[in-house]
Amino acid sequence: MSTVYELICIACPVGCQIRAETQQDKIISIAGNHCKRGESYAQEEIFRPARVVTSTVRVQGAVLPVVPVRTAEPISKDKIGATLEELAQIKVSAPIKLHQVIVEDVVGTGVDVIASRPLMSKEAGERTA
Ligand code: SF4
Repeated sequence: MSTVYELICIACPVGCQIRAETQQDKIISIAGNHCKRGESYAQEEIFRPARVVTSTVRVQGAVLPVVPVRTAEPISKDKIGATLEELAQIKVSAPIKLHQVIVEDVVGTGVDVIASRPLMSKEAGERTA
């Protein structure tokens, strides 16, 4: 039995609407993509969907209560919930550097969570005010 997927390719700004038909773990027909990258995109999106996860993490002693963070690379979609749960549990200390590793190997994905911006400590913020 085959399954049909309707996807919008995000590999470039054209945004082709792709219709892919799969059987077991193979794409048996594909239409709507204007180039080969659309095929690769459909293959990944159907069989190994992954996303960069963005969130915030609580910070102690900083000018703001939270710092925005993201995974350094896309992670499997089925690990997103566990990643967000882990990030909700932690609290880090200021100062935070841009791209500082906040969590190593988050939920065993092999991918680190990093800071999306620097964040100075409260004391440093008061000195510059
Ligand atoms: S199929 Fe090719 S042209 Fe269409 S959105 Fe994807 S990368 Fe762009």
